[in-house]
Amino acid sequence: MDCFAMKDGKCSVMKCGKCGGGACHFHKTREEQAQSLEKVSERLRSLPEYQQEAIADKYYGGVRKW
Ligand code: SF4
Repeated sequence: MDCFAMKDGKCSVMKCGKCGGGACHFHKTREEQAQSLEKVSERLRSLPEYQQEAIADKYYGGVRKW
C-alpha cells in the first residue's frame, strides 16, 4: 500500500504495526503527508513571534522546525 506511514512493511502510526488497508482513516500518500506538514508549518509561521517561541520551547526544545 502506498502510505506515508508504511516503513519496512509495518505501519509506523498504529501501535500494532498492522496495516488496516483501504478502510484506514489515517491513510495518506507521501505527497499528501508532505502537503499536510507544509500546511502546518505555514500556520505556525503565521502566528505572532511570542506564540512561535512558546511552541518551539514547549514542544521542540527551543528550535523552530517550521
Ligand atoms: S493505511 Fe493506515 S494502517 Fe496502513 S500504513 Fe497507512 S496509516 Fe498505517
